[in-house]
Amino acid sequence: MILIDNISKTYGKTKALDSLSLEIRQGEIFGLLGPNGAGKTTLIKILTTLTKPDAGTCIINGKNVILSPQEIKSIIGVVPQENNLERELTVYENLLIYGMLHKVSELKKKIEEILIKMELSSKKHSVINTLSGGFQRRVLLARALLPQPKILFLDEPSIGLDPNIRRELWQIIRGIKSEGRTVLLTTHYIEEAEALCDRVGILSRGKLIAFGTPLELKRDIGEYVVEFTDNKGRLVSEICHSREKAHDIAKNKNDGVTIRKSNLEDVFLKLTGERIRDIERE
Ligand code: ATP
Repeated sequence: MILIDNISKTYGKTKALDSLSLEIRQGEIFGLLGPNGAGKTTLIKILTTLTKPDAGTCIINGKNVILSPQEIKSIIGVVPQENNLERELTVYENLLIYGMLHKVSELKKKIEEILIKMELSSKKHSVINTLSGGFQRRVLLARALLPQPKILFLDEPSIGLDPNIRRELWQIIRGIKSEGRTVLLTTHYIEEAEALCDRVGILSRGKLIAFGTPLELKRDIGEYVVEFTDNKGRLVSEICHSREKAHDIAKNKNDGVTIRKSNLEDVFLKLTGERIRDIERE
């Protein structure tokens, strides 16, 4: 349904995307996981017609993104990373203006429906500035869903939200999938990719370094991690494929050894030699 073929994009000397190819299936929640600067937003911008690649093609529902931007715009919804709601206006006014701009038919009825679906009815006449970050994120989602897009793009949907609100948002996103829509989201939260996404593509420095279900990716590197402190006092880990092997490794280590299940951070570390969180701090 979304075919990304050999996409490259350079800004000055920075290769934001480097010959990236990927296929996203209809009806799935696909997560682009990677640290800051990996190229996630650039890919979303290309797919949502906001910027053009230097090379390569993208096809969405049979339409070429570069050649048919208007047709693409009519079937997608976008929740950008920055909150670009009209902050001095109410929830209702924001939805009304957006719906009019997008020529949504039976707009008032659809606004009422989306307010109920997103549990925003009680906030209908609240000014955006007076709402919490979690509610504002819901309004952004409601606005993107108003024209009933087939594909929804979410750039870092839960950035800055506290863990409970983040979980509520995941439920809402699962609900969007259950309506048959395809969801493509970017995240640098490992937990979000694991909990929410049917499949994940891991990006590092503009390249796709792995993709598959979270379970497949973890099975490929080994499902068990033994963590211990080496004789220089550094925390190190060994990854293996069975619980028995993990216990074997742990037996020969000092006190303080732990065994845990692997996660997507371990996948990233194994494939790049770097930690997602460390790169973010650079
Ligand atoms: P983040 O999670 O911080 O949004 P990202 O994975 O989405 O990161 P991008 O925003 O796509 O990464 O950026 C990829 C690289 O391209 C970065 O090195 C970034 O600095 C650079 N870049 C992106 N947009 C521009 C631009 N308009 N001008 C110059 N460099 C850019």
